[in-house]
Amino acid sequence: MTNMRDKHGINLSYNKTYISKDHILHNVFGDLWESFKMFPAYFHMLENCNPRTITNIETDRKNQFKYGFMAFGACIEGFNTVIRQVITIDATHLKSKTRGVLLVAMYKDHNEMIYPLAFGFANSKGSKLWTWFLKQLRGVILQPELMLIILDRHTGISNGMKAIFPDVAHGVYAYHLVNNLKQHCKKRSDVINLYYHATYAYHIEEFDNLMAEMKSIHPKFHDELVEVGIRKFSRVHCPRKRYHMMTTNIAEFMNSCLLVIRKLPITSIAKFIRDLSQCCFHDRRCNARKTPTFLTEDADQHIKDRVLSSQRCQIHPVDFNRFKVDDQWKEAIIDMEHCSCSCCEWDLNELPYSHSMAVATVYKKEEHNKLKCPEAHNTPNPSFAPNISLDDAYTEDEDPC
Ligand SMILES: [Zn+2]
Repeated sequence: MTNMRDKHGINLSYNKTYISKDHILHNVFGDLWESFKMFPAYFHMLENCNPRTITNIETDRKNQFKYGFMAFGACIEGFNTVIRQVITIDATHLKSKTRGVLLVAMYKDHNEMIYPLAFGFANSKGSKLWTWFLKQLRGVILQPELMLIILDRHTGISNGMKAIFPDVAHGVYAYHLVNNLKQHCKKRSDVINLYYHATYAYHIEEFDNLMAEMKSIHPKFHDELVEVGIRKFSRVHCPRKRYHMMTTNIAEFMNSCLLVIRKLPITSIAKFIRDLSQCCFHDRRCNARKTPTFLTEDADQHIKDRVLSSQRCQIHPVDFNRFKVDDQWKEAIIDMEHCSCSCCEWDLNELPYSHSMAVATVYKKEEHNKLKCPEAHNTPNPSFAPNISLDDAYTEDEDPC
């Protein structure tokens, strides 16, 4: 309304604006309800044009759409071959007249960029939906027992997790959790600070000390956290490696990217996701080719940021592979052969940092490149930045049935 008034000098009522917008969306993207009929055909073409892509549609007794699942073959291959096994799952409500829910399962690549694994579509939200979606998701993951799933504390998801992924570790985002519990510690920044420090702690002893301090100043908040389960928010207690995925909810970030399409017909949403994924991966491949080192940009920056602190370290050899490192804050024993340090930072993040770089620079120059996170290669690996075919446009002449 404001745009129309400012740009064109036309005063429109809210009602008229709403109807006009709906009319335009209908003309450009087609009918909302008809789109459900095209959905199976679109999925069929998507599978035809993108090898190993998995789609599925569930209908009710009246053959009405209930749920849909879509995972691009290239993304599945990437997840099962080169990506760190941490995924996050979230849902967002669709805003069209048909309502419904869009689910996303995501992870981060070694460049800390969002990488989609699977999408779900549903006519309504409920525990059955989560169970159905997680069941489909399980079908695309090769080694679920090695995985960590980070999700909201929604009851429906928890029940689905228990039913489908009973053997898989799961956690919650630190920021999410504190938001849910903050009614217990309003205006207590000291408690929140302790909580975040405990969340990020690399050592069990450090974590225990912080939690003990928290218990002494705010026992109720402490008890709430213990009830949630410390394995779910603490990096050092997590049964799987969480890397840097502690606070940012990447699925929520993806939801915000998809905000603009939530009023579109369901098939247009699926097409938009396909287009968006293809464009992002194309850009990443181009950037990867320009990168001067074999590391990702993020890993390269991570190392550069730690060069200065590595120069402050004093090193005392213990034997050929083990060194005592003093960084002026703490002392640690580093084992270069097993990529392990008693401070646990190297072990939990799998990225070189000041201690390992200091030792590698002085004593193990020949291993310096190898040390620089061999997993973080920025080669234009098709799995790392996969190609998703755009050649899947469904037309009415192409009835696959
Ligand atoms: Zn260390």
